[in-house]
Amino acid sequence: MKTNPSVLISGAGVAGPTLAYWLAEHGFRPTVVERAAGPRTSGNPVDVRGPAVQVVERMGLTERLREAATEVTAMSFVNDAGCQVGRVDLRATRQASGGDEVEVTRTDLARILYEASRDSAEFLFDDTITALAQDDDGVDVTFEKSAPRRFDLVVGADGLHSTTRRLAFGPEEEFVRHTGLYVATLQLDDPAEQERDVVLHNAPGRLVSLHPVHGRTLVAFIFRGPAVEGFDHRDIAQHRRILADAYAGDGWRVPELLERVRAADDLWLDSVSQVRLDTWSSGRVALLGDAGSSVSLFGDGSTLAIAGAHTLAKELAATPGDHRSAFARYEAEHRILVDPKQNNVQAAASMMVPATRVGIVARNLATRLWPAAAGAGRLRSRITARRRPARATA
Ligand SMILES: Cc1cc2nc3c(=O)[nH]c(=O)nc-3n(C[C@H](O)[C@H](O)[C@H](O)COP(=O)(O)OP(=O)(O)OC[C@H]3O[C@@H](n4cnc5c(N)ncnc54)[C@H](O)[C@@H]3O)c2cc1C
Repeated sequence: MKTNPSVLISGAGVAGPTLAYWLAEHGFRPTVVERAAGPRTSGNPVDVRGPAVQVVERMGLTERLREAATEVTAMSFVNDAGCQVGRVDLRATRQASGGDEVEVTRTDLARILYEASRDSAEFLFDDTITALAQDDDGVDVTFEKSAPRRFDLVVGADGLHSTTRRLAFGPEEEFVRHTGLYVATLQLDDPAEQERDVVLHNAPGRLVSLHPVHGRTLVAFIFRGPAVEGFDHRDIAQHRRILADAYAGDGWRVPELLERVRAADDLWLDSVSQVRLDTWSSGRVALLGDAGSSVSLFGDGSTLAIAGAHTLAKELAATPGDHRSAFARYEAEHRILVDPKQNNVQAAASMMVPATRVGIVARNLATRLWPAAAGAGRLRSRITARRRPARATA
């Protein structure tokens, strides 16, 4: 008797556990390998919106996500003196765009998705793939710690610096494009001063935001800069130097926050990058989420990771035994969501991190129009969604 296909998923972030859940629903045997020792801990807030809302609803997770929501309701832009110079009411923006989205930390999202999938999938924490060798019938996988195993398919959901992509497609430099921005985050332990407002301060080419998350504050530094030679996304001492240089001389609370950076040992910094590949599959190996199509932090990456995982599982289930056509249909369907987001990143960056003082003033004035713009965006995507089937069958 033929057993159900086995699928190894690398990465238990957002995309990996979602794929594991839906593959198990369709009768596959998913195994997830995650390099971290437990569910991931990075705490930046992310959004579940648009096509991901229905997916999590069908997983029965809507209520749990609402309970975990950050409850941020506004973005407040301040000047050097701390006076408000622009404000976006996120409730109005959310209402204009449908009202069904939720902001949670990536930690909470990954945990909730893991808890939803752990009973129907095997999880190997604290391990990583070290080699892949595929033939016509399967993929032989070697791990750093676990014994070697053979799987029918392998999916890389291991994020921006994907190991699966490197092993099956080639070196990172071929696919990862620096957008001209860096991002750093730091969790402060003292109580948040604002419960509902994200407070943001800009200098030309730089942004600092204080984001209240369950009573504490997550600081984010986002700044423009060319690719740093010798950049190492794991070298915290280098990250402290990069931040100190980039923000030297800035006003508002920046000097005090840089002091916190100097003392912190959990500072996180990385280049804001996009991932672009001509194809997301190579034989029996496919890529999902940031590993295959990172849009960067401005582009709904978590929403796309959830929606893409659902589409990939659906297509694999539609033609069991024919992974090639399933991968091709997944890619055709999911690129329709990914491509516009990848193309919009520079516009989003100009709004959040204007490069000049004039740009900052213009953005502060433009904040008044954001809810209307969100409504227009919602209308546009509804019209596009209605037109899409006609185009597909043409
Ligand atoms: C600072 C910041 C702010 C962001 N803000 C937003 C936002 O507001 N809205 C939004 O939608 N998105 C946002 N994003 C993007 C969003 O977090 C990602 O797009 C999303 O998490 C992608 O999900 P993923 O599962 O593909 O990758 P990830 O969530 O990165 O998960 C990848 C997983 O793979 C694991 N892994 C890595 N290497 C290996 C390996 N070799 N072996 C095994 N496991 C491995 C990692 O530990 C991790 O658990 C932000 C990102 C950042 C960095």
